[in-house]
Amino acid sequence: MAQHCGYARVAYNAALSSFKSGLDDGNWKTLYDIKKEFNARKRDIFPWCDAMSQNASKNAIHHFSDAVRRWKSGQNRFPVPKNRSGKQSYQADNGQGSVRVHKKRVWLPKVGWIRMCEELRWTGDIGRVVVSRKDDKWFVSILVHTDEENTMVQMSLIDDKPAVGVDVGINTLATCSDGTKYENPRPLKRYLRKLRRAGRMLSRKTRFSSNWHKARKRLASIHYRVSCIRLDSHHKASTAIVRKASAIGIETLNVSGMLKNKKLAKHIADASLSRFLTMIKYKAERRGIPITEAAMFFASSKTCSSCGHKKTELDLSERTYHCGECGFTCDRDVNAAINLCPS
Ligand SMILES: [Zn+2]
Repeated sequence: MAQHCGYARVAYNAALSSFKSGLDDGNWKTLYDIKKEFNARKRDIFPWCDAMSQNASKNAIHHFSDAVRRWKSGQNRFPVPKNRSGKQSYQADNGQGSVRVHKKRVWLPKVGWIRMCEELRWTGDIGRVVVSRKDDKWFVSILVHTDEENTMVQMSLIDDKPAVGVDVGINTLATCSDGTKYENPRPLKRYLRKLRRAGRMLSRKTRFSSNWHKARKRLASIHYRVSCIRLDSHHKASTAIVRKASAIGIETLNVSGMLKNKKLAKHIADASLSRFLTMIKYKAERRGIPITEAAMFFASSKTCSSCGHKKTELDLSERTYHCGECGFTCDRDVNAAINLCPS
């Protein structure tokens, strides 16, 4: 599988360089030209290519042509070469039905049967199959074309459930208008310390030495674990919220404002918050629960949920909201969640 990733990378880079040389000479090479050129040259640039599945190179060239299309339409910058240290992956299928899955096993062309950790949860025709490596673990992402009825999660009776507003934050992941809170997992703090330490170790090593590579792997591995813990807690909280609500109100995060933020840790937290909101949205959609998104600069924290009075200032350290107009007192995050609750 690692060799296939290498083959896909070589094919992508070859496609890129032949397309670039075409541009320099003033002719626009089509996908067909690039493929033909690659097939003529592949034995020179990748001597082991006959032992590889040609799907890997073919799909890589297709990905390159997608990248060119996105560049042409202004969505992306011009594609850049892939290097060894980047993400390792390749697309293994050759159209529908070329990859088979049987219980906990998957059959990949030229690789053979590979055991998987879990069974495929959906049944249907198998489309795109992407094999990738993360933190020395191998993953396979399998697209399944299912029937509509097959995927629809059983609609539960939602009439007797309340409408719920959800306020998201960095310390407390989510606060619901009914007062329940979902904390961010505690181990994260410990891991942040480990991250910093591993980062320091890495910076002290001679670049590209074997100890440097070891340190780099260690840092990447901690990053991976942190992301797994966070992903897991987000899935659990979003599922719990969607299960108990008949309607959900959420805030709209200011993404462009976030990107301006230079503090890395905060940036990561913010990025994962928008992913968390996306999770709530798609899980609600599957269950047919309506979602209300508040306007971008709606002051959910500053507004009193009882009388609607809006404070001009609210310090982050004020954990309890106290309204000067009507005397309403309540937890700061719960107050924000109530404001976000769809009426
Ligand atoms: Zn008030």
